Amino acid sequence: MNFSSLGLSEYLLEAIKKARYEEPYPIQIKAIPAILNRKDVLGIAPTGSGKTASYVLPILELLIKKEVTKSRSVRVLVVVPTRELATQVDTVIKGLSEFLPRSIKTMAVFGGVSINPQMLNLFGTEILVATPGRLLDLVSKNSVQISDIEILVLDEADKVLNLGFRDEVEEIFALLPKKRQNILFSATTEDSLKSLIAKLLHNPVTIEV
Ligand code: AMP
Repeated sequence: MNFSSLGLSEYLLEAIKKARYEEPYPIQIKAIPAILNRKDVLGIAPTGSGKTASYVLPILELLIKKEVTKSRSVRVLVVVPTRELATQVDTVIKGLSEFLPRSIKTMAVFGGVSINPQMLNLFGTEILVATPGRLLDLVSKNSVQISDIEILVLDEADKVLNLGFRDEVEEIFALLPKKRQNILFSATTEDSLKSLIAKLLHNPVTIEV
């Protein structure tokens, strides 16, 4: 199996080459085609499995076919539990975006730092990686709109719940449009996740690695 047979274009294959990914990991073999087919995806996969690239690559592929946005409305929202993961995911997206035929603005926002620079920089962001509390703050200040998102990713969903973000996450879901693609990754399938999965995912492709 190689990356070119998964439906990714030359722009992404170039970035994959630069990242020195020789072959897709099992999660990538399954998640990339499912996401490109606009399916909801439930990925049970730990850190180190290659889960980040498994959603970033197909999302970038879907976005390059669209026009650049000039608004406060983001297209792809990636909700993560921690500042560290927000920064990591943002770095992966920027790395894999290097050879795209148009630029896709990506930004990470998280708490624990001043909100002002984040507010000033958000305009035109297409992919927003965010921790739950800071995202809600930015929405309430009208710095960003999430009412038109096309794809939602909830990464490390078990950790999001274990850190006590259930209410924030529910609040975020209520602000999203009904019609959207949903992707949820979790290292575990603990009981507390079941209701979230049922609420969020419609006929998901389930992938366990
Ligand atoms: P993740 O599970 O997303 O945190 O990824 C774990 C590590 O695997 C990261 O350092 C990635 O850069 C790397 N990685 C992801 N996919 C591949 C691949 N197909 N081949 C080699 N390394 C990869």
